[in-house]
Amino acid sequence: MANVVSMGADAVTAPEAAAHHPAPAGPEPALRIRGVRKMYRRSDGESVPAIDDTTLDIAEGEVLVLLGASGCGKSTFLRCIAGLEKPDAGVIESRGTILSSAEDGIFVPPEQRDISMIFQSYALWPHMTVFKNVAYPLTTGHHKGLSRGEVRERVMGALEMVGIAHLAEQHPAQISGGQQQRVALARALVKGSGLVLFDEPLSNVDARVRDQLRAEIREMQQRLGFTAVYVTHDQEEAIGMADRIAVIDHGVVAHVATPREVFLRPANLRVARFIGKLNEVEGTVTGVEEGRITVATALGEIEAATGQDGLRTGQEVVAVWRPDRTVLNGAADGENCWPGKVRTSEFYGSFTDSRIDLGDHEVMHWTTGDLPLETGGSVRLSVAPSDVRVLAQ
Ligand code: ADP
Ligand code: MG
Repeated sequence: MANVVSMGADAVTAPEAAAHHPAPAGPEPALRIRGVRKMYRRSDGESVPAIDDTTLDIAEGEVLVLLGASGCGKSTFLRCIAGLEKPDAGVIESRGTILSSAEDGIFVPPEQRDISMIFQSYALWPHMTVFKNVAYPLTTGHHKGLSRGEVRERVMGALEMVGIAHLAEQHPAQISGGQQQRVALARALVKGSGLVLFDEPLSNVDARVRDQLRAEIREMQQRLGFTAVYVTHDQEEAIGMADRIAVIDHGVVAHVATPREVFLRPANLRVARFIGKLNEVEGTVTGVEEGRITVATALGEIEAATGQDGLRTGQEVVAVWRPDRTVLNGAADGENCWPGKVRTSEFYGSFTDSRIDLGDHEVMHWTTGDLPLETGGSVRLSVAPSDVRVLAQ
């Protein structure tokens, strides 16, 4: 699938986030969002943006995950796409139709948008059968005129797609959580629009079942090919679900890229800290060359192969790397190599987390399996320049 994204330079806090993803060429995206802003009035009377200047394209058949901390504006963004909120600025377009344009006073009401939304815990109607739950979207908007026979055919078709046609006459309380999820999916797909918004559907589900349900959504999405915008605050869920992740930070898109790219080459320090654990060493840039950035730190010079775009000599930065990239007792004379002492070392089931003191700087070291180190023992710690990334403070 084409990895399309186009972000106005003013839409991102870090311009380099867009640099890896040129503006889309080719097919019309399923959703095109330009400069969308939604303001809220706080209790003190001040108006603040819940989302600001959001510009994104979502390709047909793509799963775009909106990932961010609670309160960062994810639901507001999704509700703007669904038409449950009216943006104060910007344009939302789907397959060539303008759904909302604040500037031109256009606003298509939610029931007339070919978009479905799946809420937390699915929001099925308990007093209705599975069949009636799934048929509900066909009783509103421009589907209203369908005959009973057509409704029946569509609903049974949707139930068959998700493999639960035999449950049509059950009530939600009579079926399992996984089956309820399939009902919600069938209800989202029954209109045939193939554009589904998910607002943290799994956040009330216990961790063991969550992995299974997430895998099922992903499997169905790939089999049926619908386009999805999926909101979560859980980075593992995001990485498991997404074709691309848009990291939302205080109402703005801070980075949009594949999960791998966001994890390995985060656009800025806030994105890096949000996704996974990090070793950080503060310093000042002393040299920038193609493929090589040198940073003077309290640990001496650190060499890095990658960094945020536009770094300059003299700039205050942080050299970062992931704990699993820390090497113990490797080559003695390499770069980024320090003597250290083991402060703690704990086994967590699938990995061991050790903390190594380099003077008064602590570094995290993860190894898979059960390999605790002796507390107080001397080690030599290193990290390859190719695993270090330099980010502006
Ligand atoms: P998320 O889904 O990422 O947790 P939301 O989009 O729900 O975040 O909220 C973003 C911000 O907007 C929060 O600060 C929230 O308090 C505020 N907000 C959301 N809805 C309203 C509303 N109807 N009125 C006022 N403030 C709101
Ligand atoms: Mg929310």
